[in-house]
Amino acid sequence: MNHEASYDYDLFVIGAGSGGVRAARTAAAAGARVAVAEDRYLGGTCVNVGCVPKKLYSYAAHFHDAFEESAGFGWTLAQAPSFDWATLRDNKVEEIKRLNGIYNRLLDNAGVTLINGRAKVVDAHAVEINGERISAEKILVAVGGWPWTPEFEGSELTVNSNQVFDLDSFPQRFLVLGGGYIAVEFASIFNGLGADTHLVYRGELFLRGFDNEVREFTRDEMAKKGVNLHFETNIQRIRQVETGLEVTLTDGEQLEVDAVLSATGRKPHLAGLGLDTLGVELNADGTLKVNERYEASVPSILALGDVIGGPELTPVALAEAMHLVQHHFPKDESDGAPGPLDYDDIATAVFCHPNIGTVGLSEEEARARYGAVRIYSADFRPMKHTLSGSDERCLMKLVVDDTSDRVVGAHMVGEEAGEIIQGLAIAVRAKLTKRDFDATVGIHPTAAEEFVTMRSVTRR
Ligand code: NDP
Repeated sequence: MNHEASYDYDLFVIGAGSGGVRAARTAAAAGARVAVAEDRYLGGTCVNVGCVPKKLYSYAAHFHDAFEESAGFGWTLAQAPSFDWATLRDNKVEEIKRLNGIYNRLLDNAGVTLINGRAKVVDAHAVEINGERISAEKILVAVGGWPWTPEFEGSELTVNSNQVFDLDSFPQRFLVLGGGYIAVEFASIFNGLGADTHLVYRGELFLRGFDNEVREFTRDEMAKKGVNLHFETNIQRIRQVETGLEVTLTDGEQLEVDAVLSATGRKPHLAGLGLDTLGVELNADGTLKVNERYEASVPSILALGDVIGGPELTPVALAEAMHLVQHHFPKDESDGAPGPLDYDDIATAVFCHPNIGTVGLSEEEARARYGAVRIYSADFRPMKHTLSGSDERCLMKLVVDDTSDRVVGAHMVGEEAGEIIQGLAIAVRAKLTKRDFDATVGIHPTAAEEFVTMRSVTRR
């Protein structure tokens, strides 16, 4: 590799989240001299206030159903189960400390220099951190996003998704504002943990952008589990009263709760980074504009992850990091430049209860793109619930382009939907046809076998 030795580093990464750490380690493994600056926690949003603690809390909430459902299978609990918030929260803190340590060792073992502090970009090849100026051939901005809360009377009384994990005491009455991933996940979590839970969303139906049938099914299932859904309304004001928080909605309804989570989206975390003085171009939504090599309008400035405004998902940031390193620090120049990263058919899961797993196009998107589509949809009671007494149902759905017979979308709402859709994501990406699905012998007895046994068209 032939990098300019006149710089202190070949790559200076700002932000040790999923994308920043992956880029730093991979570039270092390719022979680059790399430093990472981080002023908060190693592992970024995902490890500290996102995916990881969320999944742990979601597991905790699922026990609620498990205890109730066990009776039909012959179990008697010696006493009624009770939940202790402090135990969950403090165990979570310990686990995250362990993960922070792993990230530290990963960087160390890769030979990356970790600098504790908030870096500021001072020119196209230099940053300032802790009063020191450090030069680098390339600077990677991997600072992620930050929760954003709209302004209304009392909005300062809300907590955001960074704070909700560590509440001092368990909110017996909980309200979530928003209708995206974070809102539905936390509504399910606090409902499962035993809080009287409300979700307030300004639109007609939450999870905008997801398949409509999935959204409606999820609405019904969440309502059955006891989440109080308030659609087409918003928070007008919150007032602190003696016994809690008095929330007034725009439709006039008043609720009293112990905590309000604002889950109204995230914004790029660019304040104070110095990029404005360099004239780096932004997209209309304030995210950093990059080309397919992840170069900003100042080409020595690179960026990836939530800050560039693609799908805000850890695996996307990781894929971007691998791509970026192949472009800028190729291990073997003869490998040639990679093509642009393919953002189609990225599977995701929403860990509301029951979970949603989805890959490819919604029915509505497929109709708009292909015109003629076939829908195969099954809404059934999972075998477990024949004895459990639960009325939870499961939805599985395939969206097929009628002309090519290709399965262009697979959707599920039900237990372990994320685990099941991950496998189907390979089939959808590989552009397999409904005929391939039909030719696959199922695994019995599973819920997932439904995906290869749905034979009759639900609608065209
Ligand atoms: P989202 O952008 O997904 O959702 C924001 C929600 O807030 C929308 O329902 C939006 O409504 C609503 N909203 C926006 N502005 C206002 C306002 N002024 N007043 C009232 N409501 C408002 O953001 P999240 O915060 O839920 O999550 C951020 C991102 O993090 C997600 O998009 C996702 O990419 C990622 N994430 C992924 C997870 C996973 O993979 N399981 C889990 C958690 C987060 P409207 O729809 O009308 O615009």
